[in-house]
Amino acid sequence: SDAMLEVKDLKKYYPITGGLFGRTVAHVKAVDGISLSIAKGETFGLVGESGSGKSTVGRTILRLTDKTAGEVRFKGKDLYSLSKQDLRQIRPEMQLVFQDPYGSLNPRMRIGDAIGEALLDHGRASRAEVRDKVLETLALCGLSSSHIDRYPHEFSGGQRQRVGIARAIILNPEFLVADEPVSALDVSIQAQIINLFSDLRDRQGLTYLFISHDLSVVEHLCSTIGVMYLGSMVEMAPRDELFAQPLHPYTRALLSAVPIPDPTLKRERIVLRGDIPSPVDPPSGCKFHTRCPVATDACRESAPEFREVGSGHFVACHLV
Ligand code: SF4
Ligand code: MG
Repeated sequence: SDAMLEVKDLKKYYPITGGLFGRTVAHVKAVDGISLSIAKGETFGLVGESGSGKSTVGRTILRLTDKTAGEVRFKGKDLYSLSKQDLRQIRPEMQLVFQDPYGSLNPRMRIGDAIGEALLDHGRASRAEVRDKVLETLALCGLSSSHIDRYPHEFSGGQRQRVGIARAIILNPEFLVADEPVSALDVSIQAQIINLFSDLRDRQGLTYLFISHDLSVVEHLCSTIGVMYLGSMVEMAPRDELFAQPLHPYTRALLSAVPIPDPTLKRERIVLRGDIPSPVDPPSGCKFHTRCPVATDACRESAPEFREVGSGHFVACHLV
């Protein structure tokens, strides 16, 4: 297959310890059996409320945290069976862009050094070559050469995210996980950063897993969208299909909050009751039943299967 990334039945459970002896008393099922596939050059949008497990999917895919079960293949290679050394070899090809790049930047390090250090770490360039490569990457990310000697606090939020992206792409990766990369930014700046992601994809041939709690953010960037709820994928479809014909009640609720540019059209806003339940003790049957506006008795008893209902359109709901 031409998949860059293939994920099969991925699970990540965190133990909760308690009592005098720190025994494991329960598990947080942060990711509870996710499968997805991302083709080269594709942008996959992973959407859901905070606490749905999206970030854990991203970190487990990059092997930044260990999985509990399942399989992650990157360009055909089983990531979890790679040795430390092979993993180090492949690391530069897959990178993470954070929500808050400021948190990962050393305040006393000049931006040029922060962006260039990975090149030296991986022996990709000599000291003499680093500056040129950093300048080239700054330009690709819409920053100017005068930024190279500045410190993080001298940058605006949008510029800092450009720096975060520059750090992620300096090693010429093929695959980026972007975890809520625009959520901390003003709406006007969000659009600029989304455009940057789109330009870089076209110019550098990048493939993305783009994580967001906001469907309107992934709408224009992503070709396929997956919707997560409480550790599970509830719907997955090509973007246009998902927006035109959302099938899962949760997707419909999320979509009802996305503004439509045409003021003569109106979407009825579906407001979900209650909060997302705890992943320690998720609801029985369909995990969404406590908040679903159309739940029936059957929904409390059995979990719906995640199945394909149209070409590339998957959904987990008894009523579909
Ligand atoms: Fe709602 Fe039942 Fe469908 Fe779950 S299975 S989304 S509770 S209708
Ligand atoms: Mg998160």
